[in-house]
Amino acid sequence: MQVVHTLAELRAALAGQSRTTFVPTMGNLHEGHLALVREAARRGAPVVASIFVNRLQFLPHEDFDRYPRTLARDCELLAPAGCDLVFAPAEDELYPEPQTYKVQPPAALADLLEGEFRPGFFTGVCTVVMKLLHCVQPAVAVFGQKDYQQLKVIEAMVRQFALPVQIVPGATVRAADGLALSSRNGYLSAEERAEAPTLQRVLAALAAAGRDGLRPLADLEAAAQAELRQRGWQPDYLTLRRRRDLLAPGDDERAAGEPLVALGAARLGSTRLIDNLEC
Ligand code: AMP
Repeated sequence: MQVVHTLAELRAALAGQSRTTFVPTMGNLHEGHLALVREAARRGAPVVASIFVNRLQFLPHEDFDRYPRTLARDCELLAPAGCDLVFAPAEDELYPEPQTYKVQPPAALADLLEGEFRPGFFTGVCTVVMKLLHCVQPAVAVFGQKDYQQLKVIEAMVRQFALPVQIVPGATVRAADGLALSSRNGYLSAEERAEAPTLQRVLAALAAAGRDGLRPLADLEAAAQAELRQRGWQPDYLTLRRRRDLLAPGDDERAAGEPLVALGAARLGSTRLIDNLEC
């Protein structure tokens, strides 16, 4: 496995590789990331992973500065998972001048849920993903369903710009107690870590109750929020949406088997966790 830090090195390493599969990450890798790399490797083409903590997708008060940077360990994990090339640029390599051209996703998809609580987040994500796709020029790119809205936003971006890349979703990898793996789980105290699987449990209950269609959705969502609040969480949203556009389903759609997804984001202490469950 080769590790490169500059665009020139990346281009040299990619010369002659017509088809690659790409896994973009912000590093501090865990089994969730590695499952995406294994999925990528299974497809047979050379696998490129990127490690870049993208300042554009963090709000000023968020954890950009303290986001864990663990490149050496990440590389030790990537090689046995089947990665062939790691692109780990410094910030001024990817952004040598202020990134004033940006990719602005549509408000209808990007200003709700995560976008409501993290304004500008998806502009930052789309801009860096667009840039990384241009740098790596992969045939396939793998994104985790853990970041469900992000996956939808990227799929729509690729479709609307006719980018020559296939987006492949990777299933969420969870700890034995159900907590979705996340680099941010490392911020949790022992006590918070023990409480953290509640988010997933509350989402599962919301998904089940939402699906049976007997009670109004707003009541179910309020009850889910109240349960988390009572346990010391500060929820941003807990909601049941249509998978296809992340808008609220009508009662008729809930009953008629419209594909749905329960999505949630909540803070436990100073750590913000997100999760989702398709139903
Ligand atoms: P990040 O490093 O958090 O930007 O994540 C990089 C990629 O890994 C994204 O496509 C995420 O959706 C994906 N990812 C993060 N956590 C998980 C997980 N627990 N299971 C599967 N994929 C994940």
